[in-house]
Amino acid sequence: MEKKFTPSHLDIKAFAQGSGELSGVSPLADWSRLSQEQFAGLESSPVRWRLHGRTEPISGAGDETWLDLEAELGLPMQCQRCLKPVLSEVFAERSFRFVSDEATAAALDDEAEEDILVLSRDFDALALVEDELLMALPLVPRHVVCPEEVTLSFSDPAVEAAQERPNPFAALANLKKPPTS
Ligand SMILES: [Zn+2]
Repeated sequence: MEKKFTPSHLDIKAFAQGSGELSGVSPLADWSRLSQEQFAGLESSPVRWRLHGRTEPISGAGDETWLDLEAELGLPMQCQRCLKPVLSEVFAERSFRFVSDEATAAALDDEAEEDILVLSRDFDALALVEDELLMALPLVPRHVVCPEEVTLSFSDPAVEAAQERPNPFAALANLKKPPTS
C-alpha cells in the first residue's frame, strides 16, 4: 500500500526510503512571507514546487537521507531603475541531507558542502520551499529594458497633450540634470 505524504507534515525518513515524490501549484496568496515581497501592479504567477526523497547507500554506515527541492514563481517586484513593477522569475533548486540530531548537524555543517538538516517525522517542507524562494529573490530587481523608453517612442496624443502643459515637475527634472558645459 502506498503511503500518503503531506508536504507540511512530512516524515522525512519514510519519504526518502519510499523515493517519495510530491509537487504542487498554489497562488502567491497562500505564501504569507513571499506575499510580503510583492509589489503592486502586476499579476504574479503561482508557486510551483517539487520534492523528491531518496536514500544514498554509504559503505560501512547506514543510508544517507536526502531531499531534493525545486521551486519557482513569477513575483512582481519594483524595478530599481525605473521604479515600475517588474515580474521577477525566481527559481530555487537545492538538495538537503538529513541527519539524526542537532549535534551531528552542527559537527557536519563546517565540513559538508551540502546543506544539513535534522531528521523529523513532522517536517514542514512547504516552509522550506518558501525559505528557498525568499533566498533566491533578486537583490536588485530590474527590467531587462525598462518600459519607460518604449512608451515615449509611441506617438500618443494623450502623452503629447500632457507634455505641452507646463509640468510642475519640470523644474525638479532640470535640477537633476548634470550641468551642461
Ligand atoms: Zn525598469
